[in-house]
Amino acid sequence: MNKTLQKQKLLQIGRFSFGMGDRFAHQAKAQLQACILAAKQGVEIVPVWNKSNREHTIIGSEPPSVRAAAARAVKELGWKKTWHIDADHIRLETVDRFLDSSDFFTIDVADSIGKPAPAADIRAFVKRHPELVGDLEIPGIGRPIKTTRADVERVAAKYLFAVQDAGKIYRHIAKAKGAGNFITEVSMDETDSPQTPPELLIILAAMADEKIPLQTIAPKFTGRFNKGVDYVGDVAQFEREFNEDLAVIAHAGLRYGLPDNLKLSIHSGSDKFSIYPAIRAAVKKFNAGLHIKAAGTNWLEELIGLAEAGGDALALAKEIYCDALDHCAELCAPYATVIDIDPKKLPSKEAVAKWTSAQYCAALRHDPECKDYNQHFRQLLHVGFKIAAKKGDRYLKMLEANEAIVGRNVTMNLYERHLKPLVV
Ligand SMILES: [Zn+2]
Repeated sequence: MNKTLQKQKLLQIGRFSFGMGDRFAHQAKAQLQACILAAKQGVEIVPVWNKSNREHTIIGSEPPSVRAAAARAVKELGWKKTWHIDADHIRLETVDRFLDSSDFFTIDVADSIGKPAPAADIRAFVKRHPELVGDLEIPGIGRPIKTTRADVERVAAKYLFAVQDAGKIYRHIAKAKGAGNFITEVSMDETDSPQTPPELLIILAAMADEKIPLQTIAPKFTGRFNKGVDYVGDVAQFEREFNEDLAVIAHAGLRYGLPDNLKLSIHSGSDKFSIYPAIRAAVKKFNAGLHIKAAGTNWLEELIGLAEAGGDALALAKEIYCDALDHCAELCAPYATVIDIDPKKLPSKEAVAKWTSAQYCAALRHDPECKDYNQHFRQLLHVGFKIAAKKGDRYLKMLEANEAIVGRNVTMNLYERHLKPLVV
């Protein structure tokens, strides 16, 4: 047992939390409204506003702006429950400008996966953890998980360096903010191969050795989690592994003394409608917590609201699409692993120019039942937020002029399509 981790007094995150991206810092109120709707149904959702270093760089914003926008919304709507600001996907090189304004840190060690830890460290890890070798009985998993010493060595060789890296970044943050004053997430999602449930167990043992008071962990799950569109993959396999992951988390929390609210974080978790029933059932079965990090699709609701408003607002929404089409390759490059766009299925500029409000909204809104929904159009616009950022004040003023209609789309998307099927 890891007594140090257990005794530490921690700022703890609640059972259900939702990571909301708000690229242009104009929708915090509309997002918080969705949590208020859930609270009215008796379900507490902790709002966590997140913005990654990559997004700040593309938009040209600074981390304190995220806290300022959230604080304003919290005050205006009289939200008395907890809320947090997540420094999303930070690393040692990028964390410093987030230190003051964040109380949740997503330590991204994906790039360190596969780099070798010192051989002596790997040997020591395997020696320290004889319990990881053999037929492992984990409550909630019907059959024992079989592992050999060689398996543990192989997993340690792949992940131990990344866990040590997470420890370094964690201690850097703790030195600045004081241990216990922030929530720690470690993410491993932006990598090539998914982590299996037995690998997750070994990783968690290593996290505890490294004394990281981990409250949420974002593994890479099986299947594709493309930005802003539905899950692509084997739903039955996802369901099986997700259930096993929850069993592993409950077991590892007790066995290694990790914080008792440790939970899974699902990145690019918005819009994965086909796996929401499986997630909902598993969370209920294990009485588990859940953190969903939306793929920044909030900004698509802004576009839908503008299109719905018609007139100049619709014209700007069309202009953004046309510019995005002109810069398709450049916009898609940084997101190559998390989008799948078939250029042949993108509507032409000429066609879009003739669209009505209803046509634009139907193509963009994620309603799988709607025959005019176009996931290629949606994904291109999703990565196209740089185009809107370039419009500067013109875009922001348009959002302000159409605040009500945009806000209604933001709130309803979050509440009806996400919170309701997942936990409410
Ligand atoms: Zn992520």
